[in-house]
Amino acid sequence: MQREGKPKTRVVVLGGGTAGWMTAAGLAKLLPDLAEVTLVESEDIGIVGVGEATLPHIRGFVERLGIDEATFMRATHATYKLGIDFRDFGSIGTSYIHPFGSFGEEVAGVGFHHWWLELERQGMAAPLGDYSFAVAAAKANRFAPPAEGTSLASTYGYAYQFDATLFGPFMREFGLANGVTRHEGRVTSVERDGDSGDVRALVMEDGRRIEGDLFVDCSGFRSLLLGETLGEEWEDWTHWLPCDRAAAMPCTHETEDIRPYTTATAMPAGWRWQIPLQHRMGNGYVFSSAHLSEDEACEAIRVAAEGEPLADPRVLRFRPGRRKHSWSHNVIGVGLASGFLEPLESTSIYLAQMAITYLIELFPEGGAIDGRDRDEFNRLVDIEYDRVRDFLILHYHVTTRDDSEFWNHVRTMAVPDSLAAKMDLWRKAGRIEKYADGLFYDASWIAVYVGQGLLPDKHDTRTAFADPHRVAAALERLRQEIDGEVARMPVHVAYLKREAARLAAQPA
Ligand SMILES: Cc1cc2nc3c(=O)[nH]c(=O)nc-3n(C[C@H](O)[C@H](O)[C@H](O)COP(=O)(O)OP(=O)(O)OC[C@H]3O[C@@H](n4cnc5c(N)ncnc54)[C@H](O)[C@@H]3O)c2cc1C
Repeated sequence: MQREGKPKTRVVVLGGGTAGWMTAAGLAKLLPDLAEVTLVESEDIGIVGVGEATLPHIRGFVERLGIDEATFMRATHATYKLGIDFRDFGSIGTSYIHPFGSFGEEVAGVGFHHWWLELERQGMAAPLGDYSFAVAAAKANRFAPPAEGTSLASTYGYAYQFDATLFGPFMREFGLANGVTRHEGRVTSVERDGDSGDVRALVMEDGRRIEGDLFVDCSGFRSLLLGETLGEEWEDWTHWLPCDRAAAMPCTHETEDIRPYTTATAMPAGWRWQIPLQHRMGNGYVFSSAHLSEDEACEAIRVAAEGEPLADPRVLRFRPGRRKHSWSHNVIGVGLASGFLEPLESTSIYLAQMAITYLIELFPEGGAIDGRDRDEFNRLVDIEYDRVRDFLILHYHVTTRDDSEFWNHVRTMAVPDSLAAKMDLWRKAGRIEKYADGLFYDASWIAVYVGQGLLPDKHDTRTAFADPHRVAAALERLRQEIDGEVARMPVHVAYLKREAARLAAQPA
């Protein structure tokens, strides 16, 4: 079909992992009149096959594509996620939940956390998490979708924890049903235009030639188009995020007691994840190879993981950082081909989703690429990466741990200027830097600062003029209201079962 006389843009997606199929499905469904989508993937090469925890934004993606949530959850054996429980990060023995939701609300124009800090100063506050609906529900193992409107039960969000090996195939089926053309096989060479240097076609092992106007590189860590072919420079962030390996090992788990949150436990040379799915527990040790060998990490995850192992530990190697430009010539990198920040805050699929969203907004109609759109795309993607990077570094840097070389390094390292400025603002005045684009917002920063033991020297002085007993009574009422409402929510497993039964009862 043509629009205003323009032919459709021929988009070729290289790679059929999570990023590839999200891109192909998204473009085919949302730009049916502008894009003709082809995807090339190789079963021989396979996918990275990890990436189980997500952020609430994924729901927007699933919804925009018109996918029914219960169907999606059944297909990917997914559970609900209300946040991440961080253990032993600030110091050994401490823990806090970074929730998908707020802590209390502003009173008299003063942010809730300032009121809490004042009460804390006076020794009258309960832990900050007690004033968050999402934290209370997570701790009680309960789940229900947030309410509409402005009630207490509307003050949180949720995400999914799903089987990464099932998510790609689910998106594949969806993509194919929406008109994506799929080629199976290995790409062995890339043809470029002699003048412009743009990519013209992918050439496959059996000689097939796949031509296109726009190429989306979703080839994973190899970055066949953006990295290998175009030589797009890599910005390495290992000096700030030294973890560069993971040993992943799925285990059985107690299926009658599934937690609605991910757990991240700090370890001597990194941290380990526990991601509960419907049918198993995802486990992995993310570690720094400068501080721990692969064999030691595999042994450590064997010892630490609960449940029966379902496979031997599998080591994944990566480099934290990103390509300087995610869009170069007529190639756009999405997913691991464009960059990778370790999974401490489950941000990788989010970053792929944002790249797809920006691509849709800046989509080159009729195959003609406007350099200004490319620059804007790169600017937006840069912001996303920088924000996530700073937030991740914070988790390592704000600690009193001195029990290993790894923690001594991250505790004392120099951090990016952008993060130093944010921390300075917090230390001096209890303030969070405001920004419009990118992750993360106030509640997230506050959760990590407070959770890891970094309280500011000062907070909003207006709180000191209020009667502390009245403030304490108001906070206590809030805490009790939250507890009361949470007690009425179904336990997580019961909710999962109820949704599954509802789906099963629907006509096919
Ligand atoms: C240890 C670890 C834990 C993670 N945890 C999380 C998490 O909890 N949450 C999160 O959001 N993200 C997480 N991620 C990131 C997440 O796994 C990825 O973002 C996601 O899977 C996307 O991967 P991809 O599609 O870019 O690459 P891949 O899955 O590697 O897919 C690459 C595709 O390219 C194809 N390909 C490559 N070369 C060729 C060729 N020459 N010819 C044809 N096809 C080719 C392959 O066949 C494959 O289909 C984690 C990553 C790691 C390493």
